[in-house]
Amino acid sequence: MADPVLELRDVWCAFGDHEVLRGIDLTVQRHEVVALIGASGSGKSTLLRTANLLEHVDDGQIFLSGQDITDPRVDGDAVRARIGTVFQSYNLFPHLSVLDNVTLAARVVHRRPRAEAEEHGRQLLASIGLAAKADAYPDTLSGGQQQRVAIVRAIATDPELLLLDEITSALDPELVGEVLDLVRSLKASGSTILMATHEMAFARDVADRVVFLDAGRVLEEGPARELLSSPREPRTREFLARVL
Ligand code: ADP
Ligand code: MG
Repeated sequence: MADPVLELRDVWCAFGDHEVLRGIDLTVQRHEVVALIGASGSGKSTLLRTANLLEHVDDGQIFLSGQDITDPRVDGDAVRARIGTVFQSYNLFPHLSVLDNVTLAARVVHRRPRAEAEEHGRQLLASIGLAAKADAYPDTLSGGQQQRVAIVRAIATDPELLLLDEITSALDPELVGEVLDLVRSLKASGSTILMATHEMAFARDVADRVVFLDAGRVLEEGPARELLSSPREPRTREFLARVL
């Protein structure tokens, strides 16, 4: 059953005369995990940023659970409160404890009572084995631990959609696995995820669908295993030959 959480229709985005997104059509269905792959500079981060209105859209429309969020009357903060985002470099607030990082949006944006937000926050930290770190500050955690906290922070307010932008690329190789395992468990619990990644093995393993971006266009998309093992387009083949 089609139940799109995110739908981009012919989305264009330019910086000056540099057209970075050139007519993107992309849909993410509820509970679906979609991996966005493509060379550096192909527009992956820009696409994710348009989806939570951190980047402008020159033309086209973006729908979040059926609402046109590119309508100029839409409040960007209200849209972002419905989306969880994790970027490449863990961007926890350094002056807040781990627990305060996880509960901040619930308390401030969603106005949940502190006790309720903290109980939920501690459960989330326990679920990733970091209950003991609740009162610690981010810089006392490893990169992998920080990125896992950033992920549970992103899901603490039950977002409709998770946007993950190369969340393992700043990590030491031995810390990548624990972060990918967490994404796997989010998928198992039914999260809807659009993630830019250069971890092709992970994309094959976890994503339902893979979308290949080439110079701001969706050149090819399909079921993850199929696209990654037998791409149709020569440019997709070239890209995969370079990264696999
Ligand atoms: P990717 O994430 O696939 O590496 P990006 O979306 O970061 O690609 O970038 C795509 C292109 O857009 C790049 O050429 C980049 O330099 C350009 N770009 C991204 N953001 C801006 C910006 N704020 N101003 C100017 N150019 C930008
Ligand atoms: Mg990027």
